[in-house]
Amino acid sequence: TNPIPHIFVIMGASGDLAKKKIYPTLWWLFRDGLLPKKTHFIGYARSSLTMKDLRAKTEPHMKHPWGDSPLESQMRPNFQQFCAALEIKEDEKAKAAEFFRLNSYQSGKYDVPGDFQALDQHIRKLQTSSGQANRLFYLALPPSVYHDVTLNLSKHCMSCDQDCWTRVIVEKPFGRDSQSSAELSHHLSSLFTEEQIYRIDHYLGKEMVQNLMVLRFANRMFSRVWNRDNIASVVITFKEPFGTQGRGGYFDQFGIIRDVMQNHLLQILTLVAMEKPISTSPEDIRNEKVKVLRCIPEVKYEDIVLGQYVGSSSAPEGDEARNGYLDDPTVPKGSKTATFVEAVLFIKNERWEGVPFIMRCGKALNERKAEVRIQFHDVPGNIFCPDLVQRNELVIRVQPGEAIYMKLMMKKPGMTFGVEETELDLSYGSRYQGVKMPDAYERLLVDVFTGTQIHFVRSDELAEAWRIFTPILHQIDTEKPDPIPYEYGSRGPPAADELREKHNFHYAGTYKWVPA
Ligand code: NAP
Ligand code: NAP
Repeated sequence: TNPIPHIFVIMGASGDLAKKKIYPTLWWLFRDGLLPKKTHFIGYARSSLTMKDLRAKTEPHMKHPWGDSPLESQMRPNFQQFCAALEIKEDEKAKAAEFFRLNSYQSGKYDVPGDFQALDQHIRKLQTSSGQANRLFYLALPPSVYHDVTLNLSKHCMSCDQDCWTRVIVEKPFGRDSQSSAELSHHLSSLFTEEQIYRIDHYLGKEMVQNLMVLRFANRMFSRVWNRDNIASVVITFKEPFGTQGRGGYFDQFGIIRDVMQNHLLQILTLVAMEKPISTSPEDIRNEKVKVLRCIPEVKYEDIVLGQYVGSSSAPEGDEARNGYLDDPTVPKGSKTATFVEAVLFIKNERWEGVPFIMRCGKALNERKAEVRIQFHDVPGNIFCPDLVQRNELVIRVQPGEAIYMKLMMKKPGMTFGVEETELDLSYGSRYQGVKMPDAYERLLVDVFTGTQIHFVRSDELAEAWRIFTPILHQIDTEKPDPIPYEYGSRGPPAADELREKHNFHYAGTYKWVPA
């Protein structure tokens, strides 16, 4: 039988996201045979470009074969230079040529219906003779043009065949507060059904984030202790070791809460905290995610710490770390935008009442890391030396170098009956040697093709996420509190450690890890 073609349209094909993420991801999927047969790719933007121009722009980003691997993390932030030094492998060159033959580019405006009709004509040429094709539209565009583009797509570019579908992939930011997000959701829902809308949060495409559900719900051992009776606090961390590197202008309009916390970290929190869904169907899972979000009261001002990085005087002359956020020429003078935030959230339900969920994220810190750290209560009625017995911690490291480790107490090996801290360690790098870990975007784009919305954000989830953060965001926007300065390359403001200590996270400073 003749397969139905799939037409993948990248709106904003001339832009940064298209060049660095979307085209490379499509190429890797194509190269690895993970896309449906007969998939065509169309780039659409206002710029006048030829396919040759587009290929020259995107190809340098298509060369690395690893995705979000430890190797990539080691290379950052020089990863781009590192990639540029590599070549598409010799045996892949014919495949790359085939990939680009399936690509085309069409220039058009975002608010001119005739240009969208022309796009529709272009798509029709790639359909079957009976007019069939599934259509995917990726909006790699600034939010300012979303309104016009979605309106025109819905009017002129939808598949008319009842056996074929149209799906629209939308990127953050999904608004900047409850009201603007609701307006966007309302607009989208007036044009498309929820089943047609794929809101990407690329953290939901990461191996360890997807693993949270299996870890929790396929292991009796964890399911029994996952509650306020056993867990003292949960810390969800995202750290970046570099600053804005001259591109702070865009960041400054949003700040770190909107950029990382309200979306990526809160998504992780919901997967850590939600109840077991009835099944693994997308709607059952997303129902549970919404339910747990609805139990979270708005974040209070006394439960946050805001920071902004300043240049490190101890960094070598000319080093990036000498520059603070305000030294970035694209950042408005005197900006009070936070580059670090820690926030404590509570979940008012039977499982979690009283357990602090501490989220923290920041730029220009001492390391690159994303992890979930679950700290258990002290052992009641401890019979060993109190100074030696520390709390258990379960750490799920999302990146770099995926790992799950459990910090626990053991008898010190040897003649003594002493106690010492050690760990049960599952490091993916050694346990799953040779397993290719796909990049988050690779997984998520395959999901859009196959039509599974498990790892995409539903509109009611989004509304709840904004409800939790909108009051604090408005307060910060109007009162403009001074963020606490912290040095480039440090662990962030000490006030954040104090807030965690206050909220039942204890750091003993005694744990020593000995890598194998
Ligand atoms: P971008 O490069 O600034 O814009 C994409 C394209 O949109 C541009 O090439 C340009 O194409 C068109 N465009 C830009 N500004 C415009 C304007 N004011 N009016 C009309 N058209 C305009 O954006 P991006 O970095 O690719 O990001 C696209 C979307 O993905 C944004 O919503 C962003 O927040 C989100 N996102 C980006 C990244 C990333 O790594 N870049 C990561 C996560 C999310 P033409 O001029 O050729 O039409
Ligand atoms: P740790 O050093 O005891 O740190 C535990 C927590 O305390 C972290 O959240 C850390 O925050 C925080 N902390 C650090 N210094 C602090 C301070 N002065 N005041 C308050 N809080 C502080 O244990 P760990 O981070 O779990 O492990 C230590 C090292 O071993 C890490 O580099 C880890 O990656 C490594 N390790 C690796 C594996 C593996 O790859 N499989 C397994 C076990 C351990 P920050 O997040 O800000 O640092």
